[in-house]
Amino acid sequence: MIKIAIDGPSGAGKSTLSKKLAKELGFVYIDTGAMYRAAGLFCLRNGINIKEESDKAADCVEKITIDIIYLPEEGQKVILNGDDVTGEIRTPEVSIAASDVSAIKRVRLRLVELQREMAKSHNVLMDGRDIGTYVLPDADIKIFLTASNEERAKRRYAELLEKGQKCEYEDVYRDMLYRDKNDSSREFAPLKAAEDSIMVDTTGNTFEESFELLLNLIRERL
Ligand code: C5P
Repeated sequence: MIKIAIDGPSGAGKSTLSKKLAKELGFVYIDTGAMYRAAGLFCLRNGINIKEESDKAADCVEKITIDIIYLPEEGQKVILNGDDVTGEIRTPEVSIAASDVSAIKRVRLRLVELQREMAKSHNVLMDGRDIGTYVLPDADIKIFLTASNEERAKRRYAELLEKGQKCEYEDVYRDMLYRDKNDSSREFAPLKAAEDSIMVDTTGNTFEESFELLLNLIRERL
């Protein structure tokens, strides 16, 4: 089975690019961020203060079921304990909860186990923060995507507006820096480029330019 790992901070374009690349290559796309988002949402729904009640949060996450399914017309659906939470996991509140819950080691161990299981039986393109360093250290191709802070915040802001969510650019920028710091400073499996990853900076690129660049880069190596 072939494994492609794409890591990087939020707003670098990982998920939109990964989704289209996987489709083009005929690989299964695994959005690991959506799994941390579903776990964060579950804690929020149950009134858990994630930062102060990490054991309670981990106990809860160990019991939930998260399924990621693909419908031909609607695309990716994220199912939490049988409920479709696809829209709900994309709010700024859930982004922060996902980042907080992802810092808990027991939560990561549980979700990583599911992610590795998914990669066993298919060619996969998996995106996240620790795929090349921890989840799939033996991935055939590892890419680390980045872009400038301003460009990442602008993309995220546009994405939220497009989804009809009310937000301010300054808040999006602040939340993004909070998540970057949280994700790269956690003790266990932090956001970090693997030593053998290819660094790609998408600042100033259109989506199509980044897509072509990555597709060529992957095809050259497969
Ligand atoms: O990629 P996305 O923004 O959807 O991820 C949401 C959050 O989940 C990230 O801010 C990060 O804290 C966490 N995450 C992680 N490891 C991954 C994927 C996501 O810690 N492999």
